Amino acid sequence: MMIHKEICVGCGRCHPYCPTSAIHFDDLKSVVDQDVCYECGSCLRADVCPVDAIEESPHVYEYPRALRKYFSDPEATHALTGMSGRGTEESKTNDVTNRCGPGEVGIAIEVGRPTIGMDLKDIQKITRALARAGIHEIEPNNPIHSMIQDPSTGDLKPELMGERVLSAIIEIAVKRDRLRHVLRTLKNVAGELDSIFCLDVITQLEPGLRVPQEVLDVIESEGLSWRPNAKINMGLGRA
Ligand code: SF4
Ligand code: SF4
Repeated sequence: MMIHKEICVGCGRCHPYCPTSAIHFDDLKSVVDQDVCYECGSCLRADVCPVDAIEESPHVYEYPRALRKYFSDPEATHALTGMSGRGTEESKTNDVTNRCGPGEVGIAIEVGRPTIGMDLKDIQKITRALARAGIHEIEPNNPIHSMIQDPSTGDLKPELMGERVLSAIIEIAVKRDRLRHVLRTLKNVAGELDSIFCLDVITQLEPGLRVPQEVLDVIESEGLSWRPNAKINMGLGRA
């Protein structure tokens, strides 16, 4: 995002809308720190500037900076996947995509959050930890998949280092008996991150609409608590 300094009257109304404090005063006018800006669009969408001094930068869609917008602006559509909202449908359409099949468990690692954000180096810390644990396959329809330079190491493409986004989701699917291994891997790497993450654990339901008890047992025995968030597929689709 950019602010036309020659137009800005220094009222400061846009400042509270920036989740990363990228907007600051310089000579009583507001400017955007381009290193810190996530390109989330919040300051522009707020529509509070009395003189229309805020404008999207002409470079916002240039790679790799464009990733900031795709992962941070809820109104942006990811160029690779055609999806808004961090570029993935996650498990919400699992009834037709079968990303997480019978006997498997899907794990979505949601890194960063609005108002917290992260450096993509944090994504790499996780993908490297997963690779060391023998998990090399990121969900192909997830935009993180195309950001991997070397699946054997989990390294991201080098040009992405230094890019910052509000939030991104790493998605994997493993056999259910590997869930404990993945949870321990993620608990171990958590302390290395400069941001936060939460986990979604996804399963197909058993007859009677029951969550598989073996999955819940593993989560609880690893000292984690779970909430049955209700994003319910009604089985109307066909995988
Ligand atoms: S686009 Fe978002 S991060 Fe950038 S200056 Fe505006 S509110 Fe702040
Ligand atoms: S709202 Fe507009 S005029 Fe006021 S500080 Fe921000 S950019 Fe400048």
